[in-house]
Amino acid sequence: MKNMSPIIPVSDPNCQVKSWKNLLKSAIKDPIQLLSEIGLEPTDLNFPIAENTGFAVRVPQPFIDKMQLGNPQDPLLLQVLSQQAENLAVAGYTNDPLEEHASSAPGILHKYHGRVLLMLASACAVNCRYCFRRHFPYQDKVASGKQLQQSIDYISEHQEISEVILSGGDPLMVSDSQLSLLLSQLNQIPHLKRLRIHTRLPVVIPQRITQELCNILATSHLNVSMVLHINHANEIDELFTSSVKKLRDSGIQLFNQSVLLKDINDNVSVLAQLSEQLFAAYIVPYYIHLLDKVAGAAHFDIPKAQAIELVEALRNRLPGYLVPRLAIEEPGEKAKTIIA
Ligand code: SF4
Repeated sequence: MKNMSPIIPVSDPNCQVKSWKNLLKSAIKDPIQLLSEIGLEPTDLNFPIAENTGFAVRVPQPFIDKMQLGNPQDPLLLQVLSQQAENLAVAGYTNDPLEEHASSAPGILHKYHGRVLLMLASACAVNCRYCFRRHFPYQDKVASGKQLQQSIDYISEHQEISEVILSGGDPLMVSDSQLSLLLSQLNQIPHLKRLRIHTRLPVVIPQRITQELCNILATSHLNVSMVLHINHANEIDELFTSSVKKLRDSGIQLFNQSVLLKDINDNVSVLAQLSEQLFAAYIVPYYIHLLDKVAGAAHFDIPKAQAIELVEALRNRLPGYLVPRLAIEEPGEKAKTIIA
């Protein structure tokens, strides 16, 4: 059910919009500069960094502000710092682990029954080194201009589609006015019931949650949910919590999905703390994924048996609603495979 509280007018929307866009523009793109932001040098690390991996470094300042100064093992730093291990070819790790590179229509991925992924943006605010779409040919696939109309037509013509999922490149990279226009078109499709937004932007630039954005989502006829992507409790700070409260107050349901990552969150205490803090921010810890076997990310992977043990240990520690489902995506399957 939507929260029916009155929509608060934005006092100065331009100020907020400029603010998140400026933070986006000034994101750090150099690994050495990233290290120096938290008082480190390459020699402080126990692995060599890489300046050229074919997948640029991109880290906005609000995410850097959550890292621990002087900690070469910082779990946020390790998610975004490029390292030479990314350039190693490892058997079984491919550029298109989910076989997504052939899509149904411009900007559309129609993998699941009743749901389509719509891709609006060709980039994210942060480049997570383990990303399963790090090799995705966004330039040929995102829906913009005329192609967006083709995507809308595709959704209109397929009566079985009840849910549109806006997915990475991060859909909140587009402006509020573009999102507003899209929603006004989706609102007119009678068989659509739900809109889901998969995004990491509220975590890396909480200022992205403008009141204008909340108003746009709150006034949609669709039931809107947002799936955030948070891997470690240190990503949850006061600024983030107050930003997502605005979403919640606008009737948006909030879920989280994480990826199990070696040396970052492959520990039951770390996972328990993440679930507790998500729930304190009114976010349901929904899925935890095994790493998709994408080329360049093998050093983040953990064995499936270890992942199952971790989730079972979590289940012994927390109430059921705080234990995310352990899942893996397999190419060609109609839904995620739940492992534990
Ligand atoms: S935000 Fe999501 S889609 Fe974007 S780089 Fe990170 S994992 Fe990939």
